[in-house]
Amino acid sequence: MATMVTGQREQIESKVQQGLRLSSEEGLALYQEPDLEWVGSLANLVRERRYGKRTTYIVNMHLNYSNLCTLSCMFCAFARKRDQPGGYEMSLQEMLERVSILKDAREPEIHIVGGLHPDYPYEYYPKLLALLRQTYPTAHLKAFTAVEIDYFALLAGRSVDWVLQDLREHGLGSLPGGGAEVLTDRIHQKLYRDKMGPDRWLEIHGIAHRLGIRTSATMLYGHIETDEERVEHLVKLRQLQDQHAGFLAYIPLRFHPDNTPLKKLPLRSGDEVVRQVALGRLMLDNFDHVKAYWIMSGLENARRAQFFGADDFDGTVVDERITHMAGCDTPVGMTEESLQQMIRESGRDPVRRNGLYEILN
Ligand code: SF4
Repeated sequence: MATMVTGQREQIESKVQQGLRLSSEEGLALYQEPDLEWVGSLANLVRERRYGKRTTYIVNMHLNYSNLCTLSCMFCAFARKRDQPGGYEMSLQEMLERVSILKDAREPEIHIVGGLHPDYPYEYYPKLLALLRQTYPTAHLKAFTAVEIDYFALLAGRSVDWVLQDLREHGLGSLPGGGAEVLTDRIHQKLYRDKMGPDRWLEIHGIAHRLGIRTSATMLYGHIETDEERVEHLVKLRQLQDQHAGFLAYIPLRFHPDNTPLKKLPLRSGDEVVRQVALGRLMLDNFDHVKAYWIMSGLENARRAQFFGADDFDGTVVDERITHMAGCDTPVGMTEESLQQMIRESGRDPVRRNGLYEILN
């Protein structure tokens, strides 16, 4: 790893203490700084200045309605073609039964994503939202990545504006942050060239923000991306956030290579997990929340991430499929009590929130 140029460490520290924005060069230096604990301490400073010891969490579940997909992204272990073993479609009834686990929960979140289904018509998606909203009126429906929204616009023969407004009328609460991968043309060309690229992902999130629909942002790291590309990704998110302030949170996602064409790549270390969280906190000065997503980072790393900038611990989750099909060995869900206990045992105060990060207790 490169060492910082003379005076750069002091300058970064001074800027963080004053709440000033870090440059791309400074972000790159932090990615390559050998003293990880120092990087973490800066991120923790920013985090504790805003939130003290508080760590928020949510009672949520994932609903991956189908893994049939018209595309074949290189990092995906989830998608199947119709004639492949392991493909599935959940019926509406089955989804209602799964979601019934949340029936007594106050303002839970249902996180709904799937493949780009080869046969479902556009009307399937608003119908699904409406059914869930009708059955669980207090649930926040965080549904459909920008990639799915783009596909729905194609299916409906309408604009993204129209699709988002139609879905909102049927119950859409916010958009998840998936599909961003790494927002550079090189990664797009190498790993998912048939799927929409970085500009379109940013455009769709910008449209949602303009319509008042909040969204999240992710980065799928730990495959072939460089530190420079990670910085480019963060700066692009920061620029969009400057325009509309529509992002609720940033969630770095550790890539799980098993069962993908990239399976020879190693799973990135815990140190790398917490550095990604810290860089998100330090570079994204206009984002309120940085999330430790334990499903992909591992429980122990998520616990540690609360001292590297993460102020949110996601979540009870329940029945996540996408990462587990890529060999992830974390549990598929957790009770609210064990989540609270884990946060408390790591020295933070658990506070429950809803899908818009409003505090519930
Ligand atoms: S990442 Fe999404 S779009 Fe790509 S193959 Fe997997 S499910 Fe399909």
